[in-house]
This record gives sequence, C-alpha cells and structure tokens, in this order.
Amino acid sequence: MTGHDTIVRELLACTLAAAVPLRLAELDALAGETREAAIRGWREDALEQIPAHGDIILYPAKKRGESAAAFNSLTRGLAVMALNPGGVEFVGHVWCAMHSRFGVTGEYPCVACLAAERASEVAP
Ligand SMILES: [Zn+2]
Repeated sequence: MTGHDTIVRELLACTLAAAVPLRLAELDALAGETREAAIRGWREDALEQIPAHGDIILYPAKKRGESAAAFNSLTRGLAVMALNPGGVEFVGHVWCAMHSRFGVTGEYPCVACLAAERASEVAP
C-alpha cells in the first residue's frame, strides 16, 4: 500500500465514522413499512453499486457526482448491515446499531452482541 493509499483509507475511515451514524439516524426517523422499504432499497442499492463502483469511492470518478453517489451507497449499505446482530466491520471500524452506533475500533463481531448471546444461552 502506498502512502497515498494509506491517506485515502484513513480519510475514508474518518468520513464513514461520521456518515454511518447519520444514516442510522435517518432510519431511526422512519417507522413501519416506510422504514422497511428504506432498508430494502438501501440494501439492494449497495449490493448493486458497491461491487460495480467501489473503485470510484477511493479514486475520483471522471463524471462529477459519481464518487459521491457511490460513497452514499456504501454508507447506506453499512448502516443496513449494522442493524444485524454483531454489526458490521469495515476499514477497522465496527458499527452495531444496538451497541456502537458511532462505531468503535475493535473486534468484529460486536463484543456486546456476543456477550448478550452468551448470556441468553446460559439463561434457563
Ligand atoms: Zn452489538
């Protein structure tokens, strides 16, 4: 990894540290079918856009706005994945909608989710 790549990766991590909690807050503001539809839409968009355009998240696209759109797909996809038990890990951050909405640098899956799962296994 070059020095430039390291800088880009660190900037991506810093930006995601702010963006993913904002996306989780957007979902919190929704309820019922509207929320479920947003989650489905964000998931489908991320699954389509990130594999196809992941390169322009790290490196500027030729067409104005394409990198921003790809970054937004990534943030929405990470927010949706953070809703799952254990959360999601990316570029060294772990986001869990239940326990670490602002992201933590730590082990994946979410340590609090694992502890809760172990506690439920021991309980009668
Ligand atoms: Zn958790």
